[in-house]
Amino acid sequence: MTPGQPVTNNRDNILTPVFDSLPPLALYIHIPWCIRKCPYCDFYSNRLTGELDEDAYIAVLQRDIELALPLVWGRRIISVFIGGGTPSLFSAAGIDRLLKMVRSLLPVLPDAEISMEANPGTFETEKFKEYRETGINRLSIGIQSFNPAHLQVLGRIHGREEALAAAQTARMYFDQVNLDLMLGLPGQTLEQFQQDVQTAVSCDPTHLSLYQLTIEPNTPFAAHPPVLPDEDVLDSMQQWMEQALPGMGFEHYEVSAWAKPGCQCQHNSNYWLYGDYLGIGAAAHSKITFPDGRILRRMCVRNPGAYMLGDEAGKTPFEETFEVSVEDRQFEFMMNALRFINGFPTHLFEERTGLPLACISEPLQLAEDKGLLAVSPTTICPTPLGMRFLNDLQEIFLPD
Ligand code: SF4
Repeated sequence: MTPGQPVTNNRDNILTPVFDSLPPLALYIHIPWCIRKCPYCDFYSNRLTGELDEDAYIAVLQRDIELALPLVWGRRIISVFIGGGTPSLFSAAGIDRLLKMVRSLLPVLPDAEISMEANPGTFETEKFKEYRETGINRLSIGIQSFNPAHLQVLGRIHGREEALAAAQTARMYFDQVNLDLMLGLPGQTLEQFQQDVQTAVSCDPTHLSLYQLTIEPNTPFAAHPPVLPDEDVLDSMQQWMEQALPGMGFEHYEVSAWAKPGCQCQHNSNYWLYGDYLGIGAAAHSKITFPDGRILRRMCVRNPGAYMLGDEAGKTPFEETFEVSVEDRQFEFMMNALRFINGFPTHLFEERTGLPLACISEPLQLAEDKGLLAVSPTTICPTPLGMRFLNDLQEIFLPD
């Protein structure tokens, strides 16, 4: 039998995936609070009212890890990502206690990438040096824009000077720094976007995440949509990035991600390549693969209060747990892995889904015929046309 080849249950002819080896395992920790909610944001976070009880939250995170241990017994953690929300609301001492707790329960690899998201307020920037001392080795800063008018429209609580100070200070203490920027902001011109990117690059980050602003349902922007740049302006921004950023030392490796050589985000890359992740904290998601062929998805209770209270009431912190079906795992894999500009190794489909590539031979052929995908024995890679129309390409792999 070929590695990763699924077996057929002869009794009822059901395709049963099997795994010869398990994918890498990452740890995600969600900190679900923000000072105030930005009007475009659909990440799960609550406005912080009153004092943040760090120790109480660390205690429930510990409970989550302990409950999850039987699912990941013996597996090593390749990366840790503390996201939110606004993790930099935590003190450096709190992050230190959190990471010590994690290391006491899970075998985190000595060279693991340990990322943390931070907002660029003065209060946060003063803590960067101490964050580095806790073992965080990659800082990701939610700049979004350096333009004061755009920061105001986005409801950000920081100004241009704070954003600059945060980006520059981060590089004094961290070898790996990501800056998040948005494009397609209300009324944004190509020149304004170019200035944002050039200002970001002048702060010497090792990674840029460049996301297009989209109006998400159930956000204030959805209720009162701002006027966004038209397709031509968005295209010109995209084209300019493709031409200018390589000359500034950045390689485009994923739809929204650009990195200096050797500085790709390991945590996100594992996620996009259908690796496993244990998610702890309110609203955090997990994906865990088992040697018997199952892939499990699990979501923690979303509301931070209910999530924490559940501990006292002895309730399970999980809102939803289900097994990923054979059809869904084909689509999930392709939806994520196709985000890579240089595609993915062909064998990875079998390794990560437990299914033969033949399962998707029809959509692969269709995508090739449409000029959206290049398929070889070694690599499956979106064409430039496929990258441009990525949603159309991904939809081809939707289950019937
Ligand atoms: S700070 Fe970040 S997570 Fe919080 S509301 Fe704003 S965009 Fe969302």
